[in-house]
Formats: sequence, structure tokens, C-alpha cells
Amino acid sequence: MALDAVDGHGRRHLIVGVLAGVPVMGALLVARGAEDPHVLYGYPPIMVGLLLFAWVLARRPHLATTATRITVLALDGAWLVGIATRLGSADDAATAWASLFPLSFMGIVVFLVLGFLDRSSRAAVVHGAGLITATLVVTAAGLSGLPGGSAYVVDLLRYGAYLTVVLVLLHLYSRWKDRLVDATAAAERAHATAAHLRDLAYVDELTGLANRRRVLEELTFQATRVAEGQAVSVVYFDLDRFKAVNDARGHATGDAVLRAVAAAATTVVRQGDVLGRLGGEEFVVVAPGTDRDQAVQLAERLREALPQAVLRSVGLRVTASFGVSVLRPRESPESVLGRVDELMYQAKDDGRDRVSSAH
Ligand code: GH3
Ligand code: MG
Ligand code: MG
Repeated sequence: MALDAVDGHGRRHLIVGVLAGVPVMGALLVARGAEDPHVLYGYPPIMVGLLLFAWVLARRPHLATTATRITVLALDGAWLVGIATRLGSADDAATAWASLFPLSFMGIVVFLVLGFLDRSSRAAVVHGAGLITATLVVTAAGLSGLPGGSAYVVDLLRYGAYLTVVLVLLHLYSRWKDRLVDATAAAERAHATAAHLRDLAYVDELTGLANRRRVLEELTFQATRVAEGQAVSVVYFDLDRFKAVNDARGHATGDAVLRAVAAAATTVVRQGDVLGRLGGEEFVVVAPGTDRDQAVQLAERLREALPQAVLRSVGLRVTASFGVSVLRPRESPESVLGRVDELMYQAKDDGRDRVSSAH
């Protein structure tokens, strides 16, 4: 459990638990207050303390851990004082023992549990061992001053043994829970690492688009869907005279152009299209559910949008030449990419900044 039990969710549960305890004590105060002075004078300050504790948890979360520790220690102390005064005010050991059992002793079990709320299992065991020892010492001291007290030595030792068993079980449970939390955290880290590695394997580092591997896998998959009757088109483009941009303005500006092209193309393609950079300044869109005419329209939209976007963000005029074709049933990625590459070169030959298409 440790410290995070008083964060977020844990804190809200604690507030509900503490607030639920107040009316229970109130009911006991009404029912038992008249006959039991410990309830009459003891419960009101404890109830005020619990309300104060709930307020700190709700309004001063940064003090939650400290407040929880102080509250648990204060309750320990109040309970031990209650046990001592019950023993002190009784006429004989039998009456005193009866007045402690079961409510006062049950309280000790509750405080052992509370000890595990806000600290490590080890610290909670130290707290619990201290509380058990203090309870036994206070009770033994109180009983020894009363007539017939020695008759309860065995009962008291047995009670101490029960409490110790409870503490050991709590410790084991808490350790088990801590391990479970650790294991969950480790699993989440592994999951994040796997997702990151998947990104590295499939994402183009410069632009954030799909990389060559991802595009090839998509083409392979879509070729099976074409065999099932779905139309899938491929739009391929290469920037015009891009080497001149690098030569004149430097490689960093060239990279900025590539990123601007990627960002602009992303806004043009549809969701479900896979937009990737195959390498250099060569890009591709795999567009499922798109026939050749629609793919040519997509290419024309890209042809118009890209130069405007690059001009806006880098201040250069850069155009692109496009090759558009449809994917054939079970066609290999190399085959379709070879075809759109040829069409793209045809567009370059025809004067660049244009779209060339074929089935
Ligand atoms: P064309 O119109 O015939 O395509 O002319 P081009 O100059 O664009 O010719 P080509 O496509 O062969 O040139 C590709 C150039 O792209 C070569 C290289 O300078 C540049 N390039 C390739 N990859 C990158 C990259 O990752 N970053 C930058 N800045 N430039 C790149
Ligand atoms: Mg080029
Ligand atoms: Mg090129």
C-alpha cells in the first residue's frame, strides 16, 4: 500500500471511510454515553479529530501523509488512555476485563490495519509491534493493580499472540499487494517500451509519417483486399528539383521542407489512408476504397496544397510530380511501386508539377 494509498483515489476512499466513522461514533455516543463516561468524554474529541482529518485530506492533500500518521498515532494514544482509565476505574479485574472486551481490543486491531495505510509494510510492522507491546504493558499494569488481576495473565498473553498473528497476516498481505503494484508498473513500462519500439519500427523519424516498412506491409495487406473486390489506389510523389533546395539553402532547410510537405499532406488525405515517406523526398499514399479517378483528384489536391504550405512555413516554392495507379489483386508492393515510379518520371518528363496516371 505505502504512501500512494493517500493519493487520488485512495485519498477519496479514506475520506469516505473517515466520514462514515463519525456518525457511527455519534450513534454510540447517544446509545452508550449516559452509562459509559469513556464514550461520553472520549468520543467527541475523537470525532472532531476525524472531521479535521477528513478536511485535511480533502483540502490540504499535500499534508495527507503527515495527517494520516498523526491521526493514527493520536488514535493509538487515545485508545491506550481509554484502556488505562477503564482499568483504573474498575473495582476488580473481572469487571475491568469485561469492560475492555471486545470493543477496546477490537479498536487495537483496527489501528493495526490503519498503520498499513500510509507507510511501507516494514514501518507498519514496527508501528504494529509497538502498539501491541504498549497495549499489553498498559493492560498488564492496569490488571496487576486490581484484585484478581493475575488470573488474566494467560488471557492477556493469548490476546497478544492473536494480535501478533493479525499483524503478520497484514504484513504478508501488504507485501503481496506491494509486489502486485510493482508487477503492474513493470508490465505498464514493458507495454510502453513495446509501443515505442513498434513506433521506431514503423514511423519515419524525420516526418512522423509511416516509414517504408509500414507502407510495404500496408500494400501487401491491401492487395489481398483488392482480391476481395475492394478498390485501392496508390499515389506516389517526388519533390521537384529538391537537390537545388539543399544545395542553395542547406540540408536543414531541406528537412524543414520535407516536414512541411508531410504536415500538409496529412491534412489532405483521408482517415484510413496510409501516408508514408519511402525515403529521400519520395512520398506515397495508399488509399483504400478509392478508384483511379478519385486517386487522381487526391493527387491534384496534394499538388495544389503542398507548394502553398511549403511557401507559408519555409518561404520557398517547391512543387512535386505525381504517379497514380490502382493496386491489382495480390500484386506485390515492388510491382505497384515500380509502376507509379515510372508514371512519376513520366510526369517529370512532361514538365514536372503534374499528375500522370494509369490503371
Ligand atoms: P527531380 O525533380 O528530378 O526529382 O530533381 P531532384 O533534385 O529532386 O532529384 P532527386 O529526386 O534525385 O534528388 C533527391 C535529393 O533529395 C537528393 C538529396 O539532396 C535530397 N534528399 C534526400 N533525402 C533527404 C533528406 O532526408 N533530407 C534532405 N534535406 N534532403 C534529402
Ligand atoms: Mg526529386
Ligand atoms: Mg527523389
